[in-house]
Amino acid sequence: MNHAEQREMESVLRSRGLTPSTQSPDIEVVHTCSVTGQAAAKSRNAIRRAKKNGKTVFVTGCFTGTDPDVAQELGDVMVKQEGDVPMIERFAQAVDTFLDRPQETAMQRTETVSLPIATLPSTKANHVRAELRIQDGCDAHCTFCIIPKIRTTLRSKSIQDVVTEATRLVELGHQEIVFTGVFIGAYGHETALRRKQHTPEAEHLADLLDAVAQIDGLQRLRISSMEPGDVTPCLLDAMVANQSVVVPHLHLPLQSGSEAVLRKMNRQYSIGDYREMIALTKERLTIDGLPPAITTDIICGFPTETDADFQETLVVANEVGYLHMHVFPYSVRTGTAAARWNQLQPHVVRERVNQLIELDEVLSLSYRKQLMGKHVKVMLEQELEDGLWKGRCEHYAEMTLRTGGKKGDIIEAKVTEVTQESTFAIPTLQIL
Ligand code: SF4
Repeated sequence: MNHAEQREMESVLRSRGLTPSTQSPDIEVVHTCSVTGQAAAKSRNAIRRAKKNGKTVFVTGCFTGTDPDVAQELGDVMVKQEGDVPMIERFAQAVDTFLDRPQETAMQRTETVSLPIATLPSTKANHVRAELRIQDGCDAHCTFCIIPKIRTTLRSKSIQDVVTEATRLVELGHQEIVFTGVFIGAYGHETALRRKQHTPEAEHLADLLDAVAQIDGLQRLRISSMEPGDVTPCLLDAMVANQSVVVPHLHLPLQSGSEAVLRKMNRQYSIGDYREMIALTKERLTIDGLPPAITTDIICGFPTETDADFQETLVVANEVGYLHMHVFPYSVRTGTAAARWNQLQPHVVRERVNQLIELDEVLSLSYRKQLMGKHVKVMLEQELEDGLWKGRCEHYAEMTLRTGGKKGDIIEAKVTEVTQESTFAIPTLQIL
């Protein structure tokens, strides 16, 4: 989300005649994150560092919602995250005020509930992958999460707007697009609460996937994060129907394997729902005997988490066989329900985090071993030394291979070795 929004802000700045500079910028924009205490601390430090350069510092992003007084005091111009007008529009207004020029609309916006789109001039792509924000806002109120207090209004881009923006990104040289959003399953809905979603006429994710997959030149399409209720047979059908572009990888946050903890977290799924979704996903997205790659987020040390609860998380993780687990120690966010509950001892949380990180290495190796001898398509992302590349295959595993070609090329290759550190392949045919 942060990357996608940075790109949108860059579009605003370029449309006002400003260009990026690492030498002596007139303004610096610090686009903050506040999803964990650590992210908020890093944001605070980034603002302080920017201020040392003596330039005008714009502070944007979620830190302005969680810590408005600090953001105001440390920065020069604060563009607050909350409010009815989308942040990107308020950012454009703040830039116009700073430049002392008449206010103009930041970007195209058709309805009040739609998100503005970033179609304005941007730079030639530096990265093969581009995040594209299709949705914003959440009202699900998980008890650990501060986001619904900051990004209160749910908005989605229309299918047409997403296609326009995605087409522009492909023209700029991006080969892969990743749909991002605060709650992607709420795409086309005015609420993230499934029991309240009654908008059958709304534009839905499966239709969006169908439309974007048809864009000429787009090599890969990925969805960033989904919950059990979002992964419907209809969506999986759309993924299968467009499998030449839509990759067999889903990021499916578990957060906890314990039913009791999930309830205390106020998640919208039971562990039974999660298991069913995993089974359905594996059934539909297994191609040539290779199951889809599944990655996840897990919170360790949630206030009510007992040893037995944590053991259940380990059981589920082993069952699923994740390619990667993003493990977070629970982070107190003032203003959330869980912040008021008794907290676990830090050493207990640390111990659980370490156990999960160790398990992550075991599970990742085990999943990647299934790639051994398979033919994969590797998108070249980084040249380590002359002719030695790192890239990712369609199953999201990082690959190392020696080949000709340039960044963004897709190389057909055969996996020859899988180690803890990397997965090695040799090219069989260069397809693009
Ligand atoms: S679903 Fe839960 S964790 Fe995700 S943004 Fe909404 S409240 Fe936060």
